[in-house]
Amino acid sequence: MAMTGEEYLESLRDGRQVVYRGEVIDVTTHPKFSVVHTIAKGYDKAIELTNAGTPVKTRSFPRSIDELRADIEEMQHLEGTQRVTRLAMLGLHTAAGRMAKEYPEYQRRIEAFVQRCDEFDLRVVPAITDAKGNRALGPLKQHDPDAYLRIVGRSEEGITISGAKLHVTNAALTHELLVMPTKQMKPGEEEWSVACAVPANAMGVVIMTAVPGAFAEDPAYYPYSSRPQHPYGFIVFDEVFVPWERVFLTGETQPTGGFAHSLGLWLRLDTAAVQADESDMLVGLAQLLAEANGSEKIPHIRDKIAEMVLDATVVRAGFEAAVATAKITPDGFCAPDELYTNMAKYFATMNMPKAYAIVQDIGGGSLLTAPMPEDLENPTTSAYLDKYMKAGSDMSGADRTRLFYAARDLAADANAGRRQVTYMHGAGGLYAQKLVARRHFNMDRAKQLARDAAGLSGKAADDSPETLDVAL
Ligand SMILES: Cc1cc2nc3c(=O)[nH]c(=O)nc-3n(C[C@H](O)[C@H](O)[C@H](O)COP(=O)(O)OP(=O)(O)OC[C@H]3O[C@@H](n4cnc5c(N)ncnc54)[C@H](O)[C@@H]3O)c2cc1C
Repeated sequence: MAMTGEEYLESLRDGRQVVYRGEVIDVTTHPKFSVVHTIAKGYDKAIELTNAGTPVKTRSFPRSIDELRADIEEMQHLEGTQRVTRLAMLGLHTAAGRMAKEYPEYQRRIEAFVQRCDEFDLRVVPAITDAKGNRALGPLKQHDPDAYLRIVGRSEEGITISGAKLHVTNAALTHELLVMPTKQMKPGEEEWSVACAVPANAMGVVIMTAVPGAFAEDPAYYPYSSRPQHPYGFIVFDEVFVPWERVFLTGETQPTGGFAHSLGLWLRLDTAAVQADESDMLVGLAQLLAEANGSEKIPHIRDKIAEMVLDATVVRAGFEAAVATAKITPDGFCAPDELYTNMAKYFATMNMPKAYAIVQDIGGGSLLTAPMPEDLENPTTSAYLDKYMKAGSDMSGADRTRLFYAARDLAADANAGRRQVTYMHGAGGLYAQKLVARRHFNMDRAKQLARDAAGLSGKAADDSPETLDVAL
């Protein structure tokens, strides 16, 4: 039952309480929410592809490395909410598989929910991150028990929940909010051990939104960030009722961490795929700027770009390794390798400031100070710009000026800071990647190598097949 774009827009006029700048708004008509039309076009395109005999998968659970690779590749071409829905389904399916043995009823409900979303062509967003209050304290010791979303009532029909989920991308434009614990809960924290699906228009749900980004009216000066931006949702659940059929965890602490973790793995793999391309794009941007400036053969410029090439290649290698060494789970499902996935996202994020700095360095001051787009239209000033902004290459002064706008927007203006925070915290903070990487690194083997090298394992260091130092 595929929805058309128009039907999608209509489905959002469902009484949902979306607040922007202090007012309840209609997300289908508000100019700052124009990304809703991009999503609607994604719905129409899916129908077109189906009619052309090449339907886009709405969900898929890869069973081999080849299928995993094909799925991730296909997902990179999907519209954002479509992709996140696919990832949410993958994460849920992974979590359900892990719970199957001990909690078959939850597994059944999860699979029924996945089936329903698929059948009715619904968009789903993961609503994981709690307000969390004092970061050093668990839910029991917070000044307000709602700092972590919790169960405040139970009845024969279902549960009632209160709390908030923050930062949720596209919460205002989705059908379903997939609520799950933000961390592993401990015994005593049963009240906060809850996972469930809540319609975005459920009674008691209020979504405050922030839509960072330049105004759409300014594409000449902000060629990248004036594109429609996704809204972020600060979702309040004020005594929201959830029927049992939509409840996937209610009071069991042990499986809590597994939920966010299952989803985090897929979100991080997807982020690493995006970062691999984005790292290449920044290399290309640095090279274009160097050529536009005539500096591409200067040794220190070439060296800096070579450094970016190496960094970008490590990100891609991490992503490729995550897929190539994917593991088949006991239920026959192919999941990316945890160590490489987390490494790739971490490394890409940590090296972004360096890539930005090199682009800023190679570009020169015009990156920030080039005259405004209107000056390219005015005959007098545009002649001056053509005369003085032309540099080493065949590129006209006007185009070199436009390249500076793009480089500023991509690597030196507010958008660059936003991208950095998105990668730093989205799909889980950097520290979480370190924890997972450490857990999956083969420390025993590493220690054994060190013992062998130090001659502590009974065999002399000289007996080792190779020494660690390499001479060229
Ligand atoms: C652009 C963007 C999109 C996002 N989209 C979504 C989404 O769709 N759905 C969703 O659920 N979430 C989403 N997130 C939330 C994201 O997962 C969180 O921002 C991230 O997990 C960090 O949590 P926080 O923002 O509360 O920061 P904090 O937890 O306050 O972290 C700040 C720093 O404190 C450290 N810290 C905090 N607590 C501890 C502790 N107990 N021990 C050690 N160190 C600690 C962290 O490691 C970090 O260094 C998004 C975030 C961003 C920026």
